Amino acid sequence: MVKKVAIIGAGSCGLPAIKCCLDEGLEPTCFEKSDDIGGLWKFQDDAIEGKASIYKSLTINTSKEMMTFSDFPIPEDYPNYMHNSQVMDYFRSYAKHFGLLPYICFKTTVLSVTKQPDFSITGQWNVVTETSGIKESFVFDAVLVCTGHHVEPYLPLASFPGLKKFKGKILHSWEYKHPGNFRDKRVVMIGLGNSGADITVDLSHAVKKVFLSTRSGSWIISRVSCNGYPMDVTYFTRFRTIVRHIIPMCLLNMWEENKVNSRFDHTNYGLKPSHRFFSKYPIVGDDLPNGIISGRIAVKPDVKEFTETAVIFEDGTKEENIDAVIFATGYSFSFPFLEESIIKTKNNHVSLYKYVFPPFLEKPTLAMIGLLQPLGAIMPIAELQVRGATRVFKGLIKLPPEDVMMADIIRKKKENEKRYVPSRHIALQVQYVNYMDEISSFSGVKPNMLSLLLKDPKLAWEVFFGPCTPIQFRLMGPGKWNGAREAILSQRKRIIKATKTRDPPNDSKETPPALGFLFLKSLWFLAFVMAIFVYL
Ligand code: NAP
Repeated sequence: MVKKVAIIGAGSCGLPAIKCCLDEGLEPTCFEKSDDIGGLWKFQDDAIEGKASIYKSLTINTSKEMMTFSDFPIPEDYPNYMHNSQVMDYFRSYAKHFGLLPYICFKTTVLSVTKQPDFSITGQWNVVTETSGIKESFVFDAVLVCTGHHVEPYLPLASFPGLKKFKGKILHSWEYKHPGNFRDKRVVMIGLGNSGADITVDLSHAVKKVFLSTRSGSWIISRVSCNGYPMDVTYFTRFRTIVRHIIPMCLLNMWEENKVNSRFDHTNYGLKPSHRFFSKYPIVGDDLPNGIISGRIAVKPDVKEFTETAVIFEDGTKEENIDAVIFATGYSFSFPFLEESIIKTKNNHVSLYKYVFPPFLEKPTLAMIGLLQPLGAIMPIAELQVRGATRVFKGLIKLPPEDVMMADIIRKKKENEKRYVPSRHIALQVQYVNYMDEISSFSGVKPNMLSLLLKDPKLAWEVFFGPCTPIQFRLMGPGKWNGAREAILSQRKRIIKATKTRDPPNDSKETPPALGFLFLKSLWFLAFVMAIFVYL
């Protein structure tokens, strides 16, 4: 019987892993390399090899209601998009509230995780750790790998001709901390991912000029969406997800591209990509267009060549006197403590059933958590994954045979290849609501819309039309939380509380709803009932 579970990493995936183990009556031991919780979200002044590293100004691009752990809502006075220090505050209060710290062995590195000789019978693992130079070996019934995938900087230096000659500073975004060191310099940023966009804006307030080189461009969306609600709150609803399945992709692309272009025309800002909106995840880059329109940032195509002091771009333009080049070219991942026979990673590709379970194990006692790339928060996804994994460990959920798992993995890979343009992330990409529903069905915690509609129409309305927040997955099934209903019905209050820090004077004089508005609302209701039937 599975009892003792090793958890590797005490970051945003490791913390809910400890809690879920406790909820399931398991005995977790979490090994954490550093001296604190939080993983990537713990800001440090210097980048340390083997650890994720963030910059001082980093503000998360998923909103609090969408990234919250499902039975511990982020307080209403926290901003909707939190600075990294506030994310850490939330993690600390989560760990304190659920008493997670005593289960963490800090400053302990996991050196290896290997199968015990009788693995095919027991499913047990041998875990070797090192703490202050002392090695220890333990036997565990199961392992949850929560080490993240933003630790190893990907630096494609060889693909840039002349870079060896370049005399300025060369670094990866992983090393970037704040703009201070670049004051009054001319900097080239390579790569338009979220790091590239964020750091370019951060730098632009201090440097003489920053050139943002992008080989494929990107669609840019804003954190602030319809009526000032956070982007993910308006975007990730069950209703919209169904609509997106019904409407042809070309129309959806046209609609979204039109919407983002009405904020600023991507062609005129040099950012327009060759791919359609839904073929690649957009960048959440609120301030990028501001930097461009103010002339602090210049968008450039791919780099053709470096000289000692200059950068020549594919369009033939040349920028002289460049002091530094920052490669915001993303990350690679690997699991050096695991043998290749357990998990094989190649060019950021990995084969996992439901993005969690290695399909070739004789016993399903190891799970990889948070190893995916959603346009949305990873924390609640990780939480749902561990809720499923712990129940698999206990034998309450059975994995299908190996060939069925492989067929599912291959089908998903093909779907991704069809839907997205090629990229280093392609194998990890998931659609947020669809994946949350898939993994929650697997764990038996997906809300049943028909039963909700019959029992509690008010709640059903919010679950269906409102944001698909993680709390929805605490309404029923194992791990049900009695506070879930109230927390869902008060989520909009928590969103607004953080922005409405002043009561506008005419607030009391609410205008009566116009007839048109009432008509629209009735149409929504009709759509709601119809959609529930389609959905079922
Ligand atoms: P990323 O998303 O992998 O983006 C890397 C960028 O580098 C891509 O635009 C890619 O271009 C470009 N690139 C890669 N190789 C290149 C080459 N040889 N030549 C030119 N360009 C190249 O990495 P990231 O921006 O560091 O983000 C990592 C993760 O952290 C993402 O999940 C991101 O959402 C997250 N993040 C979040 C925040 C936030 O919450 N505020 C901030 C930063 C990062 P192509 O597009 O052409 O492949």
